[in-house]
Amino acid sequence: MVRTGNCLGGDDPVLPAPDAQNQKGLRDVKYISTRGNAPELSFEEAMLTGLARDGGLYVPESIPTLSAEEIAGLAGKSYEEAAFVVMRPFVGDAFTDEEFKGIIARAYANFRHDARAPLVQLAPNHYLLELFHGPTLAFKDFAMQLIGQLFQFSLARRNERVTIVGATSGDTGSAAIEAFRGLDNVDVFILFPHGRVSDIQRKQMTTPEDANVHALALDGDFDDCQAKLKDMFNDFDFRDGVKLAGVNSINWARVLAQVVYYFTSAVSLGAPYRKVSFTVPTGNFGDIFAGYIAKKMGLPIDRLVIATNQNDILHRTMETGAYTKEGVTPSISPSMDIQVSSNFERALFDAYGRDGGAVAQLMEELKDGSFAISQGAMETLREHFDSGRASEEETNATIASAFTATSEVLCPHSAVGVKVANAYLGEVPMVTLATAHPAKFPDAVEAAMGARPALPPHMADMMDKDERVTRVPNDLGALEALIKERIAQR
Ligand SMILES: *Cc1c(COP(=O)(O)O)cnc(C)c1O
Repeated sequence: MVRTGNCLGGDDPVLPAPDAQNQKGLRDVKYISTRGNAPELSFEEAMLTGLARDGGLYVPESIPTLSAEEIAGLAGKSYEEAAFVVMRPFVGDAFTDEEFKGIIARAYANFRHDARAPLVQLAPNHYLLELFHGPTLAFKDFAMQLIGQLFQFSLARRNERVTIVGATSGDTGSAAIEAFRGLDNVDVFILFPHGRVSDIQRKQMTTPEDANVHALALDGDFDDCQAKLKDMFNDFDFRDGVKLAGVNSINWARVLAQVVYYFTSAVSLGAPYRKVSFTVPTGNFGDIFAGYIAKKMGLPIDRLVIATNQNDILHRTMETGAYTKEGVTPSISPSMDIQVSSNFERALFDAYGRDGGAVAQLMEELKDGSFAISQGAMETLREHFDSGRASEEETNATIASAFTATSEVLCPHSAVGVKVANAYLGEVPMVTLATAHPAKFPDAVEAAMGARPALPPHMADMMDKDERVTRVPNDLGALEALIKERIAQR
């Protein structure tokens, strides 16, 4: 089997000719880098590549739209049917309709709720979108299960093998491992900050027995993990040598998968005939950016509210126009303990009129800790996004009060969302995204409301299983050597 995977040069294997039936009316969608200096790629290439070679993130050259009739037509459809309609225009000729439907069906088959993303009501005009019914109990499964199926399909037909390296604050890693474990064409390495993920998050990453799964505990915080990942992508010898592929939320295919539930939930509440607002617990800005894409596609979204915990760089940025890094303070919502919010670059790219040079310049400035956003770009950002922050006490109080008022048990991330959303309730229905199952964060939930949420029965034995994990220093050379050695052993 050939190891190739970055799909950037003329030396890549030629893709099989697309099915003729599939080309009718479908443009070949092109993906461009937010820093304006990397090759244009197809959907499949952008997906297999992850980070662009100029350090930027891939975005579609233009955003396809759905008409009001097409959006109305999603009412009453299954999640899978809606997913096909929403994502199809972004995929170009990478798959036939039948192939793409099969990929979607397999991706969501392991979810434990028939609606996949059910909506429950919290208050007269406030709804909770439960995104935690996937195999690892967090919303990351929506994207990762799809990406697992997409990779498997693409790599098998190209007869290629890749090395996936992901950085995680907890939930991405377990979701990636669950999506890629046991697949033939992939080795998956997950970097997580040692001692900074919950016991359940760690167990989910360290207990799978598959030989292609490698959990690495890094001495540092999540931003260190993410920085090392970026460094690996920018080390072209290493990147090409191991055929590095990325599945962090920088991967466009992940953002795309998350667009779907904005449509299904808004349509349940009356879109396209009625506007809907969303509040999104935010770290890396991937999930809320998917909401922005849904809006650009024509979904009548009124407000998109960024909800941060005490690590509030995005909230401060919206208030002041200055994006300034501070240290990360560990919180009870660890999956949002982030200062460098990767996907924000995609929003900046649009806010700067898609000027890749301007974005590259800002990212250069960020190396010294901060950049100032132009007034024009801030106006564009504020047109789409509001923001709020929840302190640790407010998050705890929200878990307790939501339980008293509705019997709904919120995870700490979802509670940050509900707290921030409460300030934006009004005539337009508000949907707050519930990003994880409370049982993933039992200590925080118990401290807040006095009762310990139980793991779903299929996961109850996980805490007793043996762990497999390698402790690694915060050092690029050591990490790269370890990854090469592990691959050579396979
Ligand atoms: C990843 C994660 C978030 C943050 O999502 P982003 O796309 O990074 O903004 C929020 N809550 C939970 C539970 C998560 O796992």
